[in-house]
Amino acid sequence: MPKPFKTDQSQKQFQIAQEHLVGGVNSPVRAFKSVGGTPIFFARGKGPYLIDVDGNRYLDLVGSWGPLILGHADTAVLNLVRRTLRKGFTFGAPSTLETQLAILVKKAFPSIEKVRFVSSGTESVLSVLRLARAATRKKRIIKFDGCYHGHGDSLLVAAGSGAATLGLPDSPGVPEEFTSLTLSLPYNDLASVESAFSKYNDIAAVIVEPVAGNMGLVPPKQGFLQGLRDLTSKNQALLIFDEVMTGFRVAFGGAQELYGIKPDLTTLGKILGGGMPVGAYGGRGDLMAQVAPEGPVYQAGTLSGNPVAMAAGIATLKQLADRVFYRQLEENAAFVEEGVTRAIPKTGVSAVFQRVGSMATLFFCPRAVKNYAQAKDCNRKKYASFFWAMARRGVYIPPSQFEAWFFSGALAKEHLKKILKSIEDSLKETAG
Ligand SMILES: *Cc1c(COP(=O)(O)O)cnc(C)c1O
Repeated sequence: MPKPFKTDQSQKQFQIAQEHLVGGVNSPVRAFKSVGGTPIFFARGKGPYLIDVDGNRYLDLVGSWGPLILGHADTAVLNLVRRTLRKGFTFGAPSTLETQLAILVKKAFPSIEKVRFVSSGTESVLSVLRLARAATRKKRIIKFDGCYHGHGDSLLVAAGSGAATLGLPDSPGVPEEFTSLTLSLPYNDLASVESAFSKYNDIAAVIVEPVAGNMGLVPPKQGFLQGLRDLTSKNQALLIFDEVMTGFRVAFGGAQELYGIKPDLTTLGKILGGGMPVGAYGGRGDLMAQVAPEGPVYQAGTLSGNPVAMAAGIATLKQLADRVFYRQLEENAAFVEEGVTRAIPKTGVSAVFQRVGSMATLFFCPRAVKNYAQAKDCNRKKYASFFWAMARRGVYIPPSQFEAWFFSGALAKEHLKKILKSIEDSLKETAG
């Protein structure tokens, strides 16, 4: 018999945390505002499982919002990190591990000729935009509604993820002068990109989540990414793929491998650090040569490329480089998709399951979601009840409709069957 679901300890810990941390958390979505109730405090993770402070055990479909593609506390990652730690945490000077990780990144992403490591996805995006503006000597940036590119000032315009959840498309503290050079257009809508290019001649770059994950999982329409490639080339603007989420996720070489598109610049993060804080940007050699110290575009970081973080990345990417891993992950996620798609009509709930590789979202919407406006039309109350119905059954999904689920390689067939059964039962419960 599974133990009854309890949240007493989480409630107690959240009370204490709120006295000392803003909102009791260090990143807004963790506060569970959109699903209600108390945030779950976790004690540990191993393989496919998360265990909370009340002793509840969950199969994890969040994976720390993407990084943990190998599951929790992977043995090979743990071992290399341990060995590295013993030799010191950080030197603020070159170490060979940085080169090793850079070689792995380039192996995965042929569009990347040179790499610069930073410490988060946000930082990688801020840096790459500075470079894009410097290289083109143009100012304006195109992004898409519902895409999240970190919390940099100029990108908090119609941003997804936590910003979407909290209904804060723009944040106070960001002067409109800072966002006046950002155009946010509907995802999957090439015509609006075309008309932006005909209206403005100072567009430096188009930045896109090549598979959108921060408004829930929304795949690019056939021809959308190629269209962006063609329009940017034609207008002497740069194409930036923000693959912080999709890199090493939808394929070893990210969405650019999956869809066969070569961007000028790419940002990476999440899986790249194997659970440690690592981001990176890279791309065409002539562009990267403009970054300091080779060029004048300034960007630096005290802990950038530190050996411990590099070790976690290396031990993670080495296991993924064998592409068999992705075939298995695709089969596993497809198994759940097929089951859920079959179950939905039987439960009487209006929902669609969208998936690309090991990223997915169950939208409480009557039809396929193609952009942010449609995502926002979903029934978030239903998602909230569904979230708790899943938690009580021992499956942890993102505490927001606007976040992707992530399948890890640690999930075996028995776990997938349990996930599927939990989805079916939770949908029935949600229907009532
Ligand atoms: C998570 C994410 C970011 C921000 O990365 P952080 O490490 O949270 O700063 C940027 N872009 C995309 C596409 C992301 O998914």
